[in-house]
Amino acid sequence: MNYDNALLTEIERIYQNKRKKAEESVELLNNALFNNPDYVSAYNGYNSTRFEISKAKFKGDEQILPKLESDLKAYLLKMQEIKNNFGITDKSLVAKYDCSACRDTGRLKDGNRCKCFKKLVCKLTLEKLGLEKKKLPTFKKAGYKDLNNLQKIYDKMSVYCEKFPNTDKNIVIAGSVGTGKSYLAGCIASELISRDFNVVYLSACELNSILLKYHVSPIDEKGAYLDLLTNCDLLVIDDLGSEPIYKNVTEEYLLMIITERMTKSNPFIITTNLEQSELLDRYGDRTLSRLNDKKKGVFIQIKGEDLRRKK
Ligand SMILES: [Zn+2]
Repeated sequence: MNYDNALLTEIERIYQNKRKKAEESVELLNNALFNNPDYVSAYNGYNSTRFEISKAKFKGDEQILPKLESDLKAYLLKMQEIKNNFGITDKSLVAKYDCSACRDTGRLKDGNRCKCFKKLVCKLTLEKLGLEKKKLPTFKKAGYKDLNNLQKIYDKMSVYCEKFPNTDKNIVIAGSVGTGKSYLAGCIASELISRDFNVVYLSACELNSILLKYHVSPIDEKGAYLDLLTNCDLLVIDDLGSEPIYKNVTEEYLLMIITERMTKSNPFIITTNLEQSELLDRYGDRTLSRLNDKKKGVFIQIKGEDLRRKK
């Protein structure tokens, strides 16, 4: 994946600040210790004794080992005593990175990008697009589940969340206005966000505006939009069918995003008011056949009355 330079520079700046924050307090404590002459001499004694021990072992000089090992212990005790006097614990000498997997560098040991890097890319791209973070409902507070016999569906979806990401099942939730589709999708999204998955939740209109941006952007900027929509752990498209259709954009890129996600086994959730025939008219048979693919997804039809009006 290629990212544009401005984005990478911004991300590197964020990581630098994170590292600085994590390492600064450790550095302060280390400075306090190494400004103490007793600590420095114990520290130097400890290191040279360790060297002497390896040397003695290499030479097979067994006799000298007990004395060296007891010296080593004494130096350690001295260092510990000084740390105690300063109130410095071993834990406080370890930098507390936001992400322990990559130590706030964005790269793992094997050279691959860390999960937190991908999250940051999504966050910054959404910000750049002017899309605010949404307040999503949670399963715990789910208000709709007792109505329209939604309890069974909610239970199933809780299981889906527990299994995630060991599922590449997509979910299409259909039903008329106010039956609680978006609410259910929101619960799944917030549950997975709370478990640290990278979830992008967009209304169909927001998605449409991103697709339009993608369409008109220069090639080096397209990557970030494509990455946002195809690489996140879960993409939620809320209220598909409510967006205007842009020629050469809406239908074509929706198919591209869905296909790409299915190829990568990255699930999506779509909610819609539209009937099958309406979906077919708007998005064509290739998109519809993917939405209806039973091997890779579940289709949930919520029947019932408008809960918003009932409330
Ligand atoms: Zn990380």
